[in-house]
Amino acid sequence: MKITVVGTGYVGLVTGAIFAIQGNDVICVDLDDAKIEDLKRGKLPIYEPGLEEMVELGVNQGCLYFTTDLKAAAAESELVFIAVGTPQNELGAANLDDLIAAAESVADAIPKGAIVVIKSSVPVGTNAKIAKVIEDRSGRRVDVANNPEFLKEGTAIDDCLNPDRIVLGVRNKRVGDVLQKLYAPLVASAQRPCPVLVMDPESAEMTKYAANCMLALKISFINEVANLCESLGADVERVREGISSDRRIGREFFKPGASSGESCFPKDVRALISQANAVGLEAKMLIAVDDANERQKQVVPRKVFGHFEGDLQGKRIAVWGLAFKPATDDIREAPALTLIEQLIASGAEVHVHDPEAIENVRNVFGDAIVYHNDKYQALKNSQALIVMTDWQEYIGADPSVLRWHMQDPVVFDGRNCLNREWFEFSSFTYYSVGQAPVRFVRDWPKHSVQKPLGIPLTTTAESPMTTVPESPRTDQLNFPVLLPCA
Ligand code: NAD
Repeated sequence: MKITVVGTGYVGLVTGAIFAIQGNDVICVDLDDAKIEDLKRGKLPIYEPGLEEMVELGVNQGCLYFTTDLKAAAAESELVFIAVGTPQNELGAANLDDLIAAAESVADAIPKGAIVVIKSSVPVGTNAKIAKVIEDRSGRRVDVANNPEFLKEGTAIDDCLNPDRIVLGVRNKRVGDVLQKLYAPLVASAQRPCPVLVMDPESAEMTKYAANCMLALKISFINEVANLCESLGADVERVREGISSDRRIGREFFKPGASSGESCFPKDVRALISQANAVGLEAKMLIAVDDANERQKQVVPRKVFGHFEGDLQGKRIAVWGLAFKPATDDIREAPALTLIEQLIASGAEVHVHDPEAIENVRNVFGDAIVYHNDKYQALKNSQALIVMTDWQEYIGADPSVLRWHMQDPVVFDGRNCLNREWFEFSSFTYYSVGQAPVRFVRDWPKHSVQKPLGIPLTTTAESPMTTVPESPRTDQLNFPVLLPCA
């Protein structure tokens, strides 16, 4: 099929690449010249594991093209997918300006019989609204369908190739048949059974928002349990095992941490609250989820400020992890941003590391903080390390290596991703989420800490990887006495 995908962000580019490798002729369109020029040169505007290879495959097969000329692309297409952003507006509702602008351009050029498919997450009633925009502009009726996207950044390719379901919101059988035909190869090759759920567009729109709100609810619930655990002396990680082994509850999206989890959740929760208000309803549960998510962003900053008794002036603080979650460069709704703002305001010297999100964060904070490509360089002489994203390369960080680089042995683990037991047997003060902190009473004098064996102390090109002969074995170290936690 001949397909145009409008928007080359996290959803549009993945969608376009997947349709292309399945043998469709796909043109991906964006109004951002720089993004399209980069894509034409084989450079991706976003980081998503596996996407670069998939885009390359589509391009090499002659099935995937990039342009800024939406009208020319739409004029050649049987299907036009719109996957532009729908951020929240100042009132909390979804801002549909980009969607409407894209629909107007499509209306000017779309051939007879072609179908417009909304992939963006949109409020109930948007399908009808966009159909009217197109009809008013073109003077004729065009079929508009809804096909909400459920991918997660970081695992987007796998999510799209092996979806739990495909939702098609259509008004007539012809549109349903065309979209089912498009998805048939994907459904056939998926590793799990994948139901194709055909419904009316309004139900499809609601399905997407309701799914995100449910997932946001799960995360805010376990965050609240974590906060209670901390105050009442329970360990949320044990409690989580206890709850999530119940099949009715499950493990997915049930990990406490420094925020609400996904970058889209807050805006989608607020969009549904706003729609409820518009029809005179008060979505009390969603309001509570939104409040809980906002409050959760303060959990790590509160611990940091508490530890330093509010005095961070001149303190050198390392922050590991800036993206809202691992395996993405997306920083929308990332709790690290809230934390960094507060650290800067309090006069701290902030040194940050992230494997993929540095450039996006540089656009926010400019010269106000120091950026490092090497996580150990970020750590050098710091008075505390704060982990805000559970990137694989942080998990398993060895306290003895951290201690080697740091001035003071203090760690705030905003994702419960480090090995707590290691910190219990080291000279660190270690704060996590939903667990009592580990406090130490006596530090190893820094000069007595040996360089650990086989562990890179630095990984930058300027200062190549260093390993040293002797490793401290934990049973040979003179560990400080641990005090029971306060
Ligand atoms: P994004 O911001 O990464 O990408 C949107 C792209 O659309 C940008 O590149 C922008 O330049 C382009 N654009 C805007 N207006 C345009 C126009 N008129 N013509 C051409 N291009 C235009 O957004 P995203 O994260 O891919 O999200 C897109 C939609 O999908 C949103 O509604 C979002 O809620 C939904 N969604 C996102 C995810 C996710 O994990 N990111 C998952 C499921 C659904």
